[in-house]
Amino acid sequence: MAEGIRIENIVKTYGSGDTAVHALRGSSMQVEAGEVVGLIGPSGSGKSTLLKCLGAVIEPTSGRMFIGDRMIYDDKWLVKDLRALRRDLIGFIFQAPYLIPFLDVTDNVAILSMLAGTPNNKARGLARDLLDALDVGHRAAAMPSQLSGGEQQRVAIARALINRPPVILADEPTAPLDGERALAVVKLLDEMAQQYETAIIVVTHDEKIIPTFRRLYNIRDGVTHEEIQG
Ligand code: ADP
Repeated sequence: MAEGIRIENIVKTYGSGDTAVHALRGSSMQVEAGEVVGLIGPSGSGKSTLLKCLGAVIEPTSGRMFIGDRMIYDDKWLVKDLRALRRDLIGFIFQAPYLIPFLDVTDNVAILSMLAGTPNNKARGLARDLLDALDVGHRAAAMPSQLSGGEQQRVAIARALINRPPVILADEPTAPLDGERALAVVKLLDEMAQQYETAIIVVTHDEKIIPTFRRLYNIRDGVTHEEIQG
């Protein structure tokens, strides 16, 4: 299931008339399954707005969005159930892990699969496989508070992968980490993108990791510019 994500000419205007803010003025990008790209740009350039549009958290003003061959937005959402779209097609990774403190590590990862209708035992099996793949299988029965920060971030990555989404959006995933750990997270994202054929978009202004992306989108004044790094 090689899908990837493509957006064409996404415009987002907040408000209208004299007070309108043109946050996105025609942003386009394409990320293949198995690829990790960076999304960078100065403060106020539109990164968060674009990420929220990509994640179907807010509605763009116009443009087109595709996941694989499926058009999901064409000047309006073409999908009725946006919650199901987010749950099944898009994984989210944030700066902080945001694990649920009263669920053990396995259930923190399994819960999104259970919510998508997978029987509990099967969901827990899928979660344990992912935890193994991310080298935190030995922590499967622990509670989040017993984990180190790095282990919690790995659990958060497993959670983003549990429903095998074609797209993962990562918002400053390395911000709190030192250089070595930040690079380790990027390497992990790279491996996971390839292993699970997911397209991963990493919003970042972390100078430590920016040189590691083969392809970047640099957004300025709401317009994306593709950059290929040597
Ligand atoms: P970045 O993430 O790159 O800092 P944002 O996407 O947050 O940029 O913001 C882009 C522009 O849109 C900025 O001018 C910001 O002030 C404006 N903006 C962001 N969110 C809103 C909102 N909910 N209402 C009005 N303007 C907004």
